Amino acid sequence: MPGHVEVVCGPMFAGKTEELLRRVRRARLAGLDVEVVNHALDDRRGPGLVSSHDGVSEASRSAPDAAGVRALLTNHSPDLVAIDEAQFFGPDLVGVVDELAARGVTVVVSGLSVTFDGRPFEPLPTLMATAERVTRLTAVCAVCGGDAAFHQRVDPRPPADALTPLVEHVGGIEAYQARCRHHRDSLHPAD
Ligand code: ADP
Ligand code: MG
Repeated sequence: MPGHVEVVCGPMFAGKTEELLRRVRRARLAGLDVEVVNHALDDRRGPGLVSSHDGVSEASRSAPDAAGVRALLTNHSPDLVAIDEAQFFGPDLVGVVDELAARGVTVVVSGLSVTFDGRPFEPLPTLMATAERVTRLTAVCAVCGGDAAFHQRVDPRPPADALTPLVEHVGGIEAYQARCRHHRDSLHPAD
């Protein structure tokens, strides 16, 4: 099906990047032209690589924001574009994904659908609502081994500022654990 959107989402450690890269490799086996895009913040294994927690990786191009993704692909419509860490690109990514799909590109978008404090994390919820195909993955709960749809901070140090949780989603994975709904700490009690 040319020109459509596939979403791979869930909490940290769910295997989102593994699944994204599995689809990239399948597409390359099929002889398709594939472009992998990552956010410039994700330099866990050096810039220019999308990598999973288990060390599976693929070369990628980096963009600092949604406009940067559009700019990377202005003169080029690959068969498949795989975008990891979509949550870092913000709500403007939705329009860029729509444009690419309208040009006939298969767009596979992977990212966190939930924040570290259990809230919906745009643009994934919007992309999930409008994609042709959604793969919702869970991780293994660090307490009971059950299905974890959430992740939370276990680092007792408070985040320094509003951006810190975003950056630590990339840089401080030791500060987070996957948790099922029964073992996540009580969340935003002020709501
Ligand atoms: P994501 O991109 O969703 O953060 P990755 O694809 O990078 O996840 O990594 C998934 C891998 O992480 C799993 O195959 C597993 O080996 C490892 N892993 C580490 N902790 C967990 C956990 N709590 N639940 C599931 N997988 C985990
Ligand atoms: Mg990942």
